[in-house]
Amino acid sequence: MTADGNFAPAALQGSRPAEACAPELPVLVERGQHEVFCGLTGIIWLHRKIQDAFFLVVGSRTCAHLIQSAAGVMIFAEPRFATAIIEDRDLAGLADMNDELDKVVGRLLERRPEIKLLFLVGSCPSEVIKLDLSRAAQRLSSLHAPRVRVLSYSGSGIETTFTQGEDACLAALVPQMPAETSASPRSLLVVGCLADVVEDQFRRLFAELGVGPVHFLPPRSSGELPPVGPQTHLLLAQPFLAETARLLENRGARRLAAPFPLGIEGTTAWLAVAARAFGIDPLRFDAVTGPKIERARRALQRYRKELEGKSVFFFPDSQLEIPLARLLARELGMELAEVGTPYLHRRHMAPELALLPMGTFLSQGQHLDRQLDRCRAARPDLVVCGLGLANPLEAEGLTTKWSIELLFSPVQGYEQAGDLAELFARPLRRRAKLARLAEAPARAEPVRILAAGE
Ligand code: SF4
Repeated sequence: MTADGNFAPAALQGSRPAEACAPELPVLVERGQHEVFCGLTGIIWLHRKIQDAFFLVVGSRTCAHLIQSAAGVMIFAEPRFATAIIEDRDLAGLADMNDELDKVVGRLLERRPEIKLLFLVGSCPSEVIKLDLSRAAQRLSSLHAPRVRVLSYSGSGIETTFTQGEDACLAALVPQMPAETSASPRSLLVVGCLADVVEDQFRRLFAELGVGPVHFLPPRSSGELPPVGPQTHLLLAQPFLAETARLLENRGARRLAAPFPLGIEGTTAWLAVAARAFGIDPLRFDAVTGPKIERARRALQRYRKELEGKSVFFFPDSQLEIPLARLLARELGMELAEVGTPYLHRRHMAPELALLPMGTFLSQGQHLDRQLDRCRAARPDLVVCGLGLANPLEAEGLTTKWSIELLFSPVQGYEQAGDLAELFARPLRRRAKLARLAEAPARAEPVRILAAGE
């Protein structure tokens, strides 16, 4: 790191030259039919993170089925989420929805005494019938205080797309965070759900750098909500937290602008911004990060051989597309055919946009048919898309990567850089293997016939 806070030049070796494209890069904005998850999906990773929280979706059977299929086998492990299904008699006004909800919550809390924080999660049906969940949450909170705190947020498909569910959930936590006291030291608040293993690695790294105290939002336990105020430096670990960041800034926190910690370059720049804010000696920064960068570079090298020169097309899904595209282009040598994002927050994304190669084709929102046409015309080597598009595109001979895996797997930081690259290399390897197998029967045919004595 240099004195002006730029990250170590060593981190850039092996990357493309930084032909920065202006943050005001033109973006194709599209509206139309789109193919994305709603915000309820965030429950799957959030419930694993906040270990004493329960997520009660107030919705229909569709919502229950969505969560079940997204959670896969997790639903057999007594998970901390469920759906309170709005029945016909609720809709017909034959039952008081609030009474029903109070009964369901009462039974749930009796059966699961370990729950300390309950989220009532709004859905399309609860919103359409205008069920006021924030008022219900206040009522239930006073009913079950001090044992359980009840909050609400919306994960509905009308209001949220996929990862925006996490933003809505964390935004609901911000008013609950204690205020800093006048004696509070300068602190770092890392915001965004990270796998525990990644969080632990970052904790160790910040400790080695001398940056601290460091808090994480969301915390692992609802009783550990970090303090916030003017002494708080806010560092986003995920790109989809616009509302949470806004509320934290309203409470006095200062946001540190940085790329996101994906790949070597992103991680180094992300750490460097925090190190600079805490006045850490650049030599110390280099001494701490140098060996880790070296190890990560060795891990990336083998994947670079597989990915270099291949083209990739991103359908909009999680808002992780731009940082991932930056990593694939600069550290793994891939060509960017199109980078689609469901939503582009210019201010939060500015450091990322500045690192994208010149002329990158960016799109925001979706018109599915038009985007599919562009994808078919581009015939990219790899398509990153949601589950609903993956199989049909595979059937058309395109190679796909399911984007949801990028949310469920630990991908941030130096130690995960190789695993992240592997997620993109694997489908290409599988496609090559299948192509070899498809040729194999043709070669084997004469042998089989001869063996049969024909
Ligand atoms: S919240 Fe809306 S989009 Fe999501 S599963 Fe329920 S009905 Fe479907």
